Amino acid sequence: MENVVIIGSGPAGLTAAIYAARASLNPIVIEGMQPGGQLTQTSDVENFPGFEDPITGTELVTAMRKQAERLGVRYMMDEVTGCDFSGETKKLSLMVGDMLETRTVIIATGASARYLGLDSEQKLIGKGVSACATCDGAFFKGRPVAVVGGGDTAMEEALYLSRIASHVTVIHRRDEFRASKIMADRVLAAPAIDVRWDSVVEEVLDVAKGEVTGLRLRNVKTQAIDDLPVEGVFMAIGHIPNTAAFDGQLERDDEGYIVTENTRTSVPGVFAAGDVQDRHYKQAVTAAGTGCIAALEAERFLVTHG
Ligand code: NDP
Repeated sequence: MENVVIIGSGPAGLTAAIYAARASLNPIVIEGMQPGGQLTQTSDVENFPGFEDPITGTELVTAMRKQAERLGVRYMMDEVTGCDFSGETKKLSLMVGDMLETRTVIIATGASARYLGLDSEQKLIGKGVSACATCDGAFFKGRPVAVVGGGDTAMEEALYLSRIASHVTVIHRRDEFRASKIMADRVLAAPAIDVRWDSVVEEVLDVAKGEVTGLRLRNVKTQAIDDLPVEGVFMAIGHIPNTAAFDGQLERDDEGYIVTENTRTSVPGVFAAGDVQDRHYKQAVTAAGTGCIAALEAERFLVTHG
């Protein structure tokens, strides 16, 4: 029987692991199939305190992983596919390994990129449609691309792509960005980036080539339709929390985020940290902060429940 099983290996999971290890709880981290979480897909991180110069997301999360490892944290490259939280002993089914039994669980499974849901978009994922510029941007060297969205992710993706692509068009459904002013200003000042305001994607075009050749856009104010020739399109329209493995076991809100109070979920002994329970902030540093709280809460739970 484990004391603490931590599900997820982004900043929330790894911070929880560091704290749980230092509390002598001998935690184990189920890393998932994309170890490191979304940080590994961002480019430079310049808002995590402690680093004078920008650090890549992968470097940051690798440093956290090594720090946790040095403290004795165990890792399992596996994925939780289901759970039973009905009894005092929590049971976790794994994709590869045997079922795990544990006294407490910290869920830090993060969130995944949201897509528009158009048939034409789904058909062309990996053929010009992507949700990760740092993963796929290099394929579009010297070619025109678009980014859909108006938040910080869209700004970050557009700026990153502007250094690779021949031109970047940001498509946003309103006439002002949601992003922070500093990021929005950088995009608006970038010579290789244009913005299509008040516009939505009606269809991703492939003109029978099986690869993206353009986007059919609709102006939501004038209803005018026009086609924008691009060879890649990056979706940056927010995220969906990764909670499928916990269906029916925990209280979630209307957008699927796990409902927590100081990381405590609706089930005693089960805690959640990071983006899977955070619909507002979603920063590496806030994820790490809630990972710390979750480990402290798990420790307290184990003490008070013998
Ligand atoms: P956000 O929820 O902040 O933004 C999503 C954007 O996508 C919004 O502009 C929204 O439009 C648009 N959108 C949503 N659904 C659709 C749709 N169906 N069709 C068209 N457009 C749509 O998500 P982000 O991923 O950008 O950011 C999440 C959080 O992470 C934020 O708190 C952000 O600050 C943070 N972040 C911080 C970074 C940094 O500090 N460097 C980098 C990246 C993210 P609308 O505005 O009209 O709602």
